[in-house]
Amino acid sequence: FAPWTDPSAKPYIEFRNVTKRFGDFTAVNDLSLSIYEREFFALLGASGCGKSTLLRMLAGFEEPTSGSILLDGQDLRGIPPYRRPVNMMFQSYALFPHMTVEQNIAFGLKQDGMAKVEIEQRVAEMLKLVKLSQFAKRKPHQLSGGQRQRVALARAVAKRPKVLLLDEPLGALDKKLREETQFELMDLQQKLGLTFVVVTHDQEEAMTMADRIAILDKGEVMQVATPAEVYEAPGSRFVAGFVGTVNIFEGKVSAREGVAATIMTDGGVIRSENASDATVGSDVAFAIRPEKIKVSSKEPAPGIDNAMQGEVYDIAYLGDMTVYHVKLPSGQVVRASALNAARVTEDPLTWDDTAWISFRPDAGVILTR
Ligand code: ATP
Repeated sequence: FAPWTDPSAKPYIEFRNVTKRFGDFTAVNDLSLSIYEREFFALLGASGCGKSTLLRMLAGFEEPTSGSILLDGQDLRGIPPYRRPVNMMFQSYALFPHMTVEQNIAFGLKQDGMAKVEIEQRVAEMLKLVKLSQFAKRKPHQLSGGQRQRVALARAVAKRPKVLLLDEPLGALDKKLREETQFELMDLQQKLGLTFVVVTHDQEEAMTMADRIAILDKGEVMQVATPAEVYEAPGSRFVAGFVGTVNIFEGKVSAREGVAATIMTDGGVIRSENASDATVGSDVAFAIRPEKIKVSSKEPAPGIDNAMQGEVYDIAYLGDMTVYHVKLPSGQVVRASALNAARVTEDPLTWDDTAWISFRPDAGVILTR
């Protein structure tokens, strides 16, 4: 499933040069974005970046100040929320406290004038889908947070919308439940064959669930890519820093040869083989993930690229892996991590020891922005 790699595939949802102003504040700035049918798409960004505003415009609660939003080729401007094939699930769930689970799910269907037998069938189907059949007669306050979340979900998809919008859908759940529910949401999206657009500020959540992620900052799209691309090939310092942890070496390109570049940094000379658009003399950042850096008490063999000497500043044992902080003479602290299961021999590195970090020339990326 990767329609975005097919140039002939038609986007299902399109934001075309959308701007949204509140007074003289610009919440969304000339933003363009395409989402494909049946895609699980995440809008990821810090608080205030405009992600909820995008969702609200798609739902029809707000209209763009300029630009257009298309759904299946149709311009949505002027179409009221209830006539859009879109439904929204809010973080607060907004369940009716005095109604039972089944009444909550049936509410929208009743309003639409659906026949009673049909409503009963649909509600039963939805309850089964979210595995809450035995809780049909309970009221929201008699349910756990996770169960309430599933009622809200069942209610949101009961009308069979084409697109489900989820605003921080797991925000009210604790960490463990959130992780389980991420997989349930993915499963549900597959089963229903819907397009999901989820808003989140949690990068792990976006990485886990989404087919593609749009990273937003101040009302603009910084990058749209698959989770793997965002992680392995961030397009800017902002994206590299926003998703996962990263080491950034600021420096200047001193030489280029094919795809390789030499970068002079305060930490040392770095040779990179991912130098697509870096020109000699330009200021760049070399970004490398902690797991791509090797730490050792032994000096790497002569001729090994990208070896730097430092001092162990911190060691954290995290169960699945160990994280080392190594301080270079420049003062920069480099983070390196190693999976505990993958460690062949125990390196007796300890605090304040001299340590060597090293990494392969193809292990990081050069960022020009
Ligand atoms: P959060 O994660 O905190 O909800 P967000 O990325 O979803 O953040 P939005 O809710 O889209 O952000 O808001 C984007 C910006 O627009 C914010 O600075 C917010 O204060 C502003 N904003 C949103 N709605 C309005 C409004 N009705 N009137 C004025 N300003 C608004």
